[in-house]
Amino acid sequence: MSSIAENVAAVRARIDAAAGGRRVLLVAASKMNDAGRVREAVAAGVDACGENRVQELVEKNAAHAYDGRPLHFIGHLQRNKVKYLVGVADLIESVDSAELIELIDRRAEKLGVVQSILLEVNIGREAAKSGLAPEDVEKTVEFAASRRHIKLRGLMAIPPVGASPEASRPYFAAMRELFIDIGEKKYDNTSMDFLSMGMSGDFEAAIAEGANMVRVGSAIFGARSYPHPQGR
Ligand SMILES: *Cc1c(COP(=O)(O)O)cnc(C)c1O
Repeated sequence: MSSIAENVAAVRARIDAAAGGRRVLLVAASKMNDAGRVREAVAAGVDACGENRVQELVEKNAAHAYDGRPLHFIGHLQRNKVKYLVGVADLIESVDSAELIELIDRRAEKLGVVQSILLEVNIGREAAKSGLAPEDVEKTVEFAASRRHIKLRGLMAIPPVGASPEASRPYFAAMRELFIDIGEKKYDNTSMDFLSMGMSGDFEAAIAEGANMVRVGSAIFGARSYPHPQGR
């Protein structure tokens, strides 16, 4: 087995242990890993691939890196990049303004598709981080619900980098409350299927607090700061 396949198996075992029978989708966050390594993760059975940069996504998609798995965009989304993603990414996880929703909707209409999205929430209210302020989520959900070429599928968050996974738990718990509140309101074009939170350092805590989608990079591909990871 390749080290990537071993890592995917190990991550999956940890997910299963944390999930207690609930289904949790594993998204391989593959930034800075080439198409060949992404294909190894796909072959090892990750549920989806997540890419941060539009350029990397377009290049690796052309190289068929993601074939056979849904493709998610998880990075900061700029308005002028929307056209490269709509109809290409199965799920855009990082939508954080009505303006982006409007642009995605228009592009999707032009292509004759319905684009699935998540709303990213800046649950820690960090000045330098993207995402909607928690108090703006509901009106943005209402806006998304009014767009015919958008399907809102849930919420995503990256909590503040904490001293420990335990330190992130209140943020994960706040996200779960928001997720449940919105789900109970039953908006049009909206089905609160996915709560995407948890990364290599804290996915077990996120799952314990209700995540059903985790985005895992370094625990699958190795640390990104090392050009020649050990054990390959
Ligand atoms: C890189 C990245 C991840 C994965 O981070 P790791 O700590 O390497 O698991 C998850 N989500 C987003 C948005 C990322 O950019």
